[in-house]
Amino acid sequence: MELKKCPFCGGEAKNEIDMPWRFVQCCQCGTTGPEFYSAAEAESAWNKRYVCDDKNGKALFVGDPVKHCHGTGTLVADMVGGIGIKVHENLTIALTPLESCHIELIEEVKDE
Ligand SMILES: [Zn+2]
Repeated sequence: MELKKCPFCGGEAKNEIDMPWRFVQCCQCGTTGPEFYSAAEAESAWNKRYVCDDKNGKALFVGDPVKHCHGTGTLVADMVGGIGIKVHENLTIALTPLESCHIELIEEVKDE
C-alpha cells in the first residue's frame, strides 16, 4: 500500500515496528499513526488521515465534507504546518487551530 504524505508537514512516511505493534511514522516530524497488529491496518489508518475534532468532538478526516464560518468545502491537511478547507479546485482556506474547532461535519462519509 502506498503511504500518503504526513498530514502535518508533508514529509514521507514509513512503516515502523514496535513488537508486537505496527504503525506508520513520519520521517520528518515524527508524527505517528495508530498502532495495530498488522502493517496493512496501520497503513490504511494512516492513509485515512485524521485531521482534527469538529466542534462536537467528532473526528474529522481528510476528504470529509465540512461546514465552517467561511463556508463549506472539503477538509484538507496537505499544507505545511496546518489544516484547511478546500472550497474550489484551486483554492484552499487555511485555518488556525482556534478556527479548526468550529469545523462541523456536513454528512458522514462511509466506506463501502
Ligand atoms: Zn510530518
